[in-house]
Amino acid sequence: MTLNFIAGEWTTAADAVPNVNPSDTNDILGDYAHASLLDTERAIDAASRAFRNWSRSSIQTRHDCLNAIATEILSRKEELGRLLSREEGKTLLEGIGEVTRAGQIFQFFAGECVRVAGEKVPSVRPGVEVEITREPLGVIGLITPWNFPIAIPAWKIAPALAYGNTVLFKPAELVPGSAHKLAEIIARSGVPSGVFNLVMGRGSIIGEAMLKSSKIAAISFTGSVATGKHVAQACTASDPMKKVQLEMGGKNPMVVLDDAEIDVAVECAVNSSFFSTGQRCTASSRLIVTDGIRDAFVAAMTKRMTSLVVDDACKAGTNIGPVVDQRQLDQDLRYIRLGQDEGARLVSGGELLKRDTPGFYLSPALFTEVDNRMRIAREEIFGPVAMVIRAKNYEEALEIANDTPFGLSSGICTTSLKHASHFKRNAQAGMIMVNLPTAGVDYHVPFGGTKGSSYGPREQGRYAAEFYTTVKTSYSFEGTG
Ligand code: NAD
Repeated sequence: MTLNFIAGEWTTAADAVPNVNPSDTNDILGDYAHASLLDTERAIDAASRAFRNWSRSSIQTRHDCLNAIATEILSRKEELGRLLSREEGKTLLEGIGEVTRAGQIFQFFAGECVRVAGEKVPSVRPGVEVEITREPLGVIGLITPWNFPIAIPAWKIAPALAYGNTVLFKPAELVPGSAHKLAEIIARSGVPSGVFNLVMGRGSIIGEAMLKSSKIAAISFTGSVATGKHVAQACTASDPMKKVQLEMGGKNPMVVLDDAEIDVAVECAVNSSFFSTGQRCTASSRLIVTDGIRDAFVAAMTKRMTSLVVDDACKAGTNIGPVVDQRQLDQDLRYIRLGQDEGARLVSGGELLKRDTPGFYLSPALFTEVDNRMRIAREEIFGPVAMVIRAKNYEEALEIANDTPFGLSSGICTTSLKHASHFKRNAQAGMIMVNLPTAGVDYHVPFGGTKGSSYGPREQGRYAAEFYTTVKTSYSFEGTG
């Protein structure tokens, strides 16, 4: 059985659950510890005790630890990528890509450790100087979802440590394997005892304990809207109130205009809607297509979809791996039935598939005749299910694109500079993509959304400092001479 990592030690837990490969449910990756409330409290205490020294540690020390983590992740990317694909179900290429991204994120924040700067500004009062400095917050609780088992933890843990905070990391129940490997690497990096703690297990137990603890200063959460709202409420109800950052769902549009290059549009749509089995918060499920290109686009899409290979995530040649588990598969199938009941036309896919091994295989689904008011067009499905929504022209397409409770990413395929520029200014989302898939972002720039998708400061890049530090303003009288 694997262990939790608390106060610099690997500790056994009373409870453990099997980690099942969604490509082959007979393949169990191992039994993974579930922490108890007592374990969680011990981890919080350890992080709290470790904060004083870590927050005062030299920036060189922090740089060296993060750099060591980055180096080990990158040197083991094939092995870690395979583990990730086995437990989450994204293809091996995607798994290795995600591990590489995690390494790059640690590299980036290793550099940021030695770039933290303040400001010295004149006061409006004679003889007074003002200094603005950044300080760490304290113990940070990190709660992550299953769909990016190593990259999302990396983009929370790296800045938390870089800016001098200590960490309690609670990964999603479905993907403890990648979290455990990451913790092993962090444990070896020179980070002192208690600075980083891993507590695996249920959100309803460990997550709740984190939300209630008065020793945790801030929570960074990525997951569903329902849990996110609860996290925010609990953070403001706790005493003292916690700083909170939420990254939640999406229902991202991709507009295709008459003047788009059809091959570019189809590749963007296939990537956005179906890669990583459509299980990305930045996936695009609403393809909003103007009348002049609509028929050609649907024909090209359905043709391209038949060439996509759905199979074991680790098999060479697989384009789309399985759905992550039975619960998510049931949700996808429910929405496919709902779409048909709502009057949409299923033109391709949406069928359970049999492969050599028992797994959660679903062919990518495409609906047409979809109205943006239908539930399938408004609610996040989080599976390989996309829909084509007609628009008369650019103006109507933009209106439909923005008509959603979410605002994570928004894309357009067009050769018109005028429309691309207008879309960048007027699409209501945190990330805009022109002639690119709605998913797939860089690690050195801000990540996050608007409306119901995000709450609080942005993640990633230099903007991560907004959440992981607090700003102090110091005044001193230095004389008028
Ligand atoms: P989820 O909300 O079910 O779980 C997310 C995390 O919250 C898990 O670690 C879970 O254990 C924990 N949790 C559950 N109940 C809790 C509670 N009461 N208190 C504290 N923690 C609790 O989400 P999921 O199913 O793991 O992930 C899928 C969702 O994540 C989708 O909605 C997707 O859009 C979203 N997501 C968003 C982003 C983004 O950056 N915007 C990125 C990836 C995934």
